[in-house]
Amino acid sequence: MDRYLTAEHVALRDRVNRFAREHIEPVSRELDESGRFPWENVRRMADMGLFGVPVPRELGGMGLDYLSYIVVIEELAKFDASHSITVSAHTTLGLSPILTFGSDEQKRRFVPPLASGEVLGGFGLTEPGAGSDASGTRTRAVREGDGYRINGSKIFITNAGVGEIFVATAVTEPGCGAKGISSFIVCKPTTDPDRARQVGCGHRDDLPFAEGFRAGEKEDKMGWRASDTRELHFEDVFVPQGQRLGQEGRGFINFMKTLDAGRIGVAALSLGLAEGALDTAVRYTVDRRQFGQRVWDFQQVQFKLAEIATDIEAGRHLTYHAAWLQDQGMPFAKQAAMAKYFCSELSMRATLGAIQVMGGVGYTNEYPVERMMRDAKICEIGEGTNEIQRLVIARKLLEEMMAEPPMQSVPADEMEPAGT
Ligand SMILES: Cc1cc2nc3c(=O)[nH]c(=O)nc-3n(C[C@H](O)[C@H](O)[C@H](O)COP(=O)(O)OP(=O)(O)OC[C@H]3O[C@@H](n4cnc5c(N)ncnc54)[C@H](O)[C@@H]3O)c2cc1C
Repeated sequence: MDRYLTAEHVALRDRVNRFAREHIEPVSRELDESGRFPWENVRRMADMGLFGVPVPRELGGMGLDYLSYIVVIEELAKFDASHSITVSAHTTLGLSPILTFGSDEQKRRFVPPLASGEVLGGFGLTEPGAGSDASGTRTRAVREGDGYRINGSKIFITNAGVGEIFVATAVTEPGCGAKGISSFIVCKPTTDPDRARQVGCGHRDDLPFAEGFRAGEKEDKMGWRASDTRELHFEDVFVPQGQRLGQEGRGFINFMKTLDAGRIGVAALSLGLAEGALDTAVRYTVDRRQFGQRVWDFQQVQFKLAEIATDIEAGRHLTYHAAWLQDQGMPFAKQAAMAKYFCSELSMRATLGAIQVMGGVGYTNEYPVERMMRDAKICEIGEGTNEIQRLVIARKLLEEMMAEPPMQSVPADEMEPAGT
């Protein structure tokens, strides 16, 4: 991967790897079983700067490129997807819309506490009636004085309970479809103030907490169990005009752009899961003996693991290439959708394959591969299902074809005879 990674990327990856081996690996099974949010590790990751990797230094971040952030997400997911999605949802979904579409004042006020990991952020797009069709948003923002009164709810929001700063969409102009949707920065206190106080991060007293904005009960999920997923409710919430993010009516399009970048993060998370599963399966099969030989020595086991390794290599090229395009300021939406759908599907194949070559033990929680399989499944659904990714890719193919100049037809008598 030298084509993409510099010595700085590799050093960052190694630093995250050492941290994950020391602090995540020993607790990942317990966290999965209990569904406990890993506050202690959130504090450690905040101290390492991992909540603001691609954020400029002057706004409290590490000032690194997007590929650095992708490398971090991948490395965390090798050990635990819940840690990885906590950082990913915070960074690409919660923080980056403010960085990209926010006014100078909004950036100055909201980005530093997010980039430092002092508080966590999230992104509220999905609603009970608006999932894949996010333009079906019902949450309503009505102009009132120098702001908006918001009512409605969002579902399945990552970091909803533990986070404090959110970006969310609401309809400001009913009847205009996607063009009637705007986005807002809205704050609420963490649902876990005691733990936040104990670990020394997760809460700031001085944020403009909005009355009536609150998180629901934590979802009991199949995977990403230590990640905090809840509903967000808006009950007569007043948000000042200064917290509208971007122009009125631009909320939907800006959120779609945010998701383009977010999808590279889900691809990286999926890759990390596949790599973690492959690593576990190789070690186990080399150790395990049946019929007087190592399980590894059965050729079908080697073939399965070779296929997984090849998938991972291909997925890494797609993912790093999409991140590289973004870093160059080039269009990347098609490649991000390709990376997301390819890597999430390879992650399912890899985790299932790892369980198969490990036999019964792979199906138990003695090894992490069954958890990795559960964690991989949501990668095919979140940030746009893989069916929606295929639609995005197909739409881009058509756009590219339509943008091409029409082919010049040459009259037959002007054609050169073949072979000259
Ligand atoms: C753990 C978790 C974390 C999440 N985090 C967030 C978050 O932080 N913020 C946020 O806003 N959302 C979040 N989501 C929501 C997630 O993005 C949605 O679940 C996802 O976009 C799919 O929407 P849906 O669940 O309503 O499924 P639906 O849209 O109801 O889809 C159901 C099925 O129909 C298919 N389908 C729908 N439309 C089409 C079509 N046009 N063509 C072909 N097939 C189609 C889908 O692919 C899917 O298979 C999260 C979800 C989960 C489970």
